[in-house]
Amino acid sequence: MRIVDCDYFVVGSGMAGLMSALHLAAYGKVTLVTKGRLADCNTNFAQGGICCVMDPSDTFDRHARDTMIAGAWLGDTKVVHEICEHAPEGIRDLIDCGVKFAKKRDGSWDLTREGGHSSRRILHAGDITGEKCESAMIRRVRRTPGIDVREGVIAIDLLMTKRLGLAGENRCIGAYVMDKATGEIYAVRSPNTILATGGCGKVYLYTCNPDTATGDGIALAWRAGAKVENMEFIQFHPTCLYHPQARRFLISEAVRGEGAELVDAHGRPFMRKYDPRGSLAPRDIVARSIDSEMKRTGADCMFLDIRKRGRKYLVERFPNIYQTCKSFGIDMAKDLIPVVPAAHYTCGGIQATTDGRTSIRGLSAVGECACTGLHGANRLASNSLMEALVCARLTAARLGPHPETWETGKGKPPPPRLRRSSHGAVKPEIPEWRTGSAVPPDEAVLVAHMWDEIRRLMWDYVGIVRTNKRLDRAARRIRTLRREIRDYYFRYLVTPDTLELRNLAVCAELIVRSARARHESRGLHYTLDYPRMAKRPKQTVLPGFHG
Ligand SMILES: Cc1cc2nc3c(=O)[nH]c(=O)nc-3n(C[C@H](O)[C@H](O)[C@H](O)COP(=O)(O)OP(=O)(O)OC[C@H]3O[C@@H](n4cnc5c(N)ncnc54)[C@H](O)[C@@H]3O)c2cc1C
Repeated sequence: MRIVDCDYFVVGSGMAGLMSALHLAAYGKVTLVTKGRLADCNTNFAQGGICCVMDPSDTFDRHARDTMIAGAWLGDTKVVHEICEHAPEGIRDLIDCGVKFAKKRDGSWDLTREGGHSSRRILHAGDITGEKCESAMIRRVRRTPGIDVREGVIAIDLLMTKRLGLAGENRCIGAYVMDKATGEIYAVRSPNTILATGGCGKVYLYTCNPDTATGDGIALAWRAGAKVENMEFIQFHPTCLYHPQARRFLISEAVRGEGAELVDAHGRPFMRKYDPRGSLAPRDIVARSIDSEMKRTGADCMFLDIRKRGRKYLVERFPNIYQTCKSFGIDMAKDLIPVVPAAHYTCGGIQATTDGRTSIRGLSAVGECACTGLHGANRLASNSLMEALVCARLTAARLGPHPETWETGKGKPPPPRLRRSSHGAVKPEIPEWRTGSAVPPDEAVLVAHMWDEIRRLMWDYVGIVRTNKRLDRAARRIRTLRREIRDYYFRYLVTPDTLELRNLAVCAELIVRSARARHESRGLHYTLDYPRMAKRPKQTVLPGFHG
């Protein structure tokens, strides 16, 4: 089996992965794998923008307070302040990569506003901010020596010393990966593995996330024994375009920020019935209100009305959204835009510090796959790209000058089954990937069915409004499905689809377990059985799998 060695092993090529790789390349050899093309990631789809206090009338304290309020006071105040305060450095990193954020005629930043923000503090590049950032970072990564980019390579499982039978403290030393084009399975060996694999939006039937968002990193880390936190908090974006041909197209919150009202089919605004902030209430409230109006009236969707802004403004400010709506026969300047809520963002994830440290030595987590304490029970709009930027920077600042190494510590003899590499460093041996008696899969339809079943049952039983009964039903079914998937996994040779299915099922189980453990309604977790918020905020921490 081939083994690829590197100082830093980054999994994922969104904002978190590319920025981590760019910073770490200054310190050593980086290998970056991504399971699709580099631009296949949530980052590429971000529309609204990136939060950062830039206006002299705004303050970090106000940004931190808005974040805490949106997060229903479950966020970690220290973490929230730290990330908000480091945001300007992260923005500078992007500008260095060549990102051109929108400016006004007088040369000042054209800051926009989204739900839950008390000030205009969102930098944007039209309504394709993510795409602009992603392409600028990709260009920079391709030009940076020392970054070995491997597209179409999916991480299968983390390499843990204890599981491999190596002595010493249990630590992560890389991962088995599969080249999707050839089917070859090999190992990437590194004392520093950085998961930047994004969220698990695909666990729900309706989502605005691309196909890559199958929660792989969260499942890999949990299987390796890492703690995961707050998985019950899944953010549903309230306004996904509702059209049979529009797969996962989002109508950015910035559209409401610029004056759009949520209305019913007769053009009647309804949000003030639910919240005094109306259409600019935080996302969880807006999503629940739309869900409630749809259930109450039996309608298939609700609508956004931004006709008052006029065509010229809409074409200039939202060129991508305007054109996409037009391609579906909806003229934003004349028509109401049909919208429904859809799974959007994973607030929980691998328990991690702002500088990426997880509960496993040698393993870091950055971006949407991590739970740092910034979002609490609900993410404030446009705080996620900021978190990815800042945490990539802080992780590199920790791992760059003080990386984990293969050395075993002062005075200790090297553990058994370790050998010296050509550079004189001690490297652990990695066993061949074992296929056992697995045979090529002959019933791919089973995988497709299990995949559909998980996504539908999560949508039906673990969605925007939850109950104990629905969660119990989901838990029972997921347990059975996980057993079936496990059998399938060992019986047949692995394929990218089975790997993703296995990870999706783990994420579904973690979400349900966390939701059942929370006996209150807070932020994104709303249950009819415990409709009130508990007095004391508490995180839901699940221990990693130890099997
Ligand atoms: C439609 C949409 C609009 C959004 N708008 C905004 C916005 O305006 N502002 C904002 O702040 N946030 C926004 N978000 C959220 C934001 O885009 C994400 O939270 C952020 O991009 C996450 O970055 P990331 O690098 O952590 O993950 P991602 O960008 O999702 O990258 C994850 C990467 O990991 C790779 N990967 C996953 N598993 C594996 C594996 N097993 N092996 C190898 N590679 C793997 C994927 O292929 C991908 O490259 C939006 C999200 C969506 C979906």
